[in-house]
Amino acid sequence: PSAPNGHRPHDLPAISFEFFPPKTEEMERSLWETIKRLAPLAPNFVSVTYGAGGSTRERTHSTIARILSETSLTPAAHLTCVDAPRANVDDVVAQYHAAGVRHIVALRGDPASGIGGVYTPHPEGYSSSADLVASIKRRHSDIEVTVSAYPERHPESTDFDADIDMLKAKVDAGATRAITQFFFDNDLYFRYLDRVRARGIEIPIVPGILPVQNFKQAANFAKRAGASMPDWLAQKFEGLDDDPETRKLVAAAVAAGQVQKLAKHGVETFHFYTMNRADLVFAISHLLGIRPQAAQKAA
Ligand code: FAD
Repeated sequence: PSAPNGHRPHDLPAISFEFFPPKTEEMERSLWETIKRLAPLAPNFVSVTYGAGGSTRERTHSTIARILSETSLTPAAHLTCVDAPRANVDDVVAQYHAAGVRHIVALRGDPASGIGGVYTPHPEGYSSSADLVASIKRRHSDIEVTVSAYPERHPESTDFDADIDMLKAKVDAGATRAITQFFFDNDLYFRYLDRVRARGIEIPIVPGILPVQNFKQAANFAKRAGASMPDWLAQKFEGLDDDPETRKLVAAAVAAGQVQKLAKHGVETFHFYTMNRADLVFAISHLLGIRPQAAQKAA
């Protein structure tokens, strides 16, 4: 059901894709295969992550630059303020702006030394993600700013109220969309959404969907991110450690079930954590009714 004007018909969900900057030439080739396969699905935007502590500053930038020059996709650059003086972070934003980037995913970030412990802002750095959002909007009012949201609350927050206070501060500073940490139990998302709306926060809270390419790796991510891994999910992947083909089919069924249920309950926008791989995300988008459209430069 692709529309003649190249826009998605209104009854189909909007999607966005997240990539991470490749470390090697081989990973770069594989990312670009992925981008070429997913681009015709006409995502609203594609985002590129920023390594812990700003460790991928150049690689994130060059990935974004290549997306801008070789595709007609709209890039969103992730940016964190951890471990960096304000001037450095401002430079990164100014460079993106000069290159034509108009969308930043603004985060506090975790120190390169790892997650955990007490977050200490750089002495000349932004004190919080809300502070970063405010600064981006003050300097570049034409940059759209997306932020994070945590359906199971961020592991460092004391309770849901404190967690949602932070989201509120980011929205008050100018953020116009939040993408959630991944979750597997849709009720967590809906309960969180109720709390957010009850605080008068009206921006879209876009569910972040992680197709489980590799259960062990996903369980590891979940542990670090404070996201729960339901027993029923572990059971579905039981015994498949050495069977990638079946794992992929199971992963597609799980993620398709999750997004179709969310869509049935009125969710109209999805963000996919692609892990730089196309197959599952392509299949899940297909099940949502999304078909490749012609005239995508990257195709
Ligand atoms: P914030 O929204 O600033 O805070 C999250 C919660 O933590 C708040 O609710 C608050 O209650 C609590 N909190 C924050 N600061 C403090 C404090 N000083 N004391 C007590 N409680 C506090 N990381 C990367 O390195 N690069 C990325 O590209 C990246 N992309 C992401 C994209 C998405 C959609 C999401 C959900 C996360 C991403 N992360 C990324 C991870 C993120 O950097 C970490 O989760 C980090 O720990 C929090 O940053 P934040 O901006 O999400 O936190």
